[in-house]
Amino acid sequence: MLSFFLVILMIKIGAHMPISYGFEKVPQMTVDSGGNTFQIFPHSPRTWRASLPSKKVAEEFQVQMKKYEIPFEAVFCHCGYLINLASPKDDIWHKSVELLITEGKICHLLGIPYLNVHPGSHTGAGEEEGMNRIVKALNEFLKTVPTVTVLLENVSPKGGNIGYTMEQLAQIINVVDQPSRIAVTYDTCHGFDAGYDITSKEGVERLLDEMEKSFGLWRVKMIHLNDSKAPLGKPLDRHENIGKGYIGDKGFRNFLSFEQIQNIPWVLETPNEEDLYTKEIAHVKSLIGLI
Ligand SMILES: [Zn+2]
Ligand SMILES: [Zn+2]
Repeated sequence: MLSFFLVILMIKIGAHMPISYGFEKVPQMTVDSGGNTFQIFPHSPRTWRASLPSKKVAEEFQVQMKKYEIPFEAVFCHCGYLINLASPKDDIWHKSVELLITEGKICHLLGIPYLNVHPGSHTGAGEEEGMNRIVKALNEFLKTVPTVTVLLENVSPKGGNIGYTMEQLAQIINVVDQPSRIAVTYDTCHGFDAGYDITSKEGVERLLDEMEKSFGLWRVKMIHLNDSKAPLGKPLDRHENIGKGYIGDKGFRNFLSFEQIQNIPWVLETPNEEDLYTKEIAHVKSLIGLI
């Protein structure tokens, strides 16, 4: 019983926070919303432009992290939407690698250890070709940005996306130059799209087993906690608020009851920015009896 309470006390939960008020406001907004971890974009995600934070901003961010007692080892950046590391078009591929490297430098300056990346879409060129481009891009990144770990996020199996099974993620990890610097994010909505059914005990056990066999469960550093507007196996990639989609409260109660899942930070990416996720974070906590 005591160990149950210790695990529950250590749970890391938060959400994707806006950066429109400045990086330095994120730690306070996180704590105000009831969270103790967060994800942010390192720049405006729908543009190719990204600039490094000034020394003053980076220092203030670190002061605020300390003030609100958020440990650096559990905070994350998410790459911009235009990046496609699998693109068969040379100009897009080069721009993508360049922007990813800038994002890595922003993470480094802020002290954020993880950059979450969508592996990419081959846009018709085929998975093998796409996979080769991704590996080449990651090798460029790893060589240029020394301190940041890349998190490969499982994606929805649509539009030529690569990385919708645990095995595909492992195929990338197995051939990059520095595999110790590649880890994984599991997105529950994208996984549900790809047929991973976390609403049953057996389904979660199967997923954990597949992760362990493919790349080792230790490598999963973040869970993107999203319900799904689409039923199991329908690749729509439409995030829904927790409890309102096809995974549902019952499904999440099941998924979140696993100790292996409780040991990994949970980050909400649901359509919910009005109250900065305060109600939804409380709702998730209530599902596991935390409040
Ligand atoms: Zn994502
Ligand atoms: Zn996600």
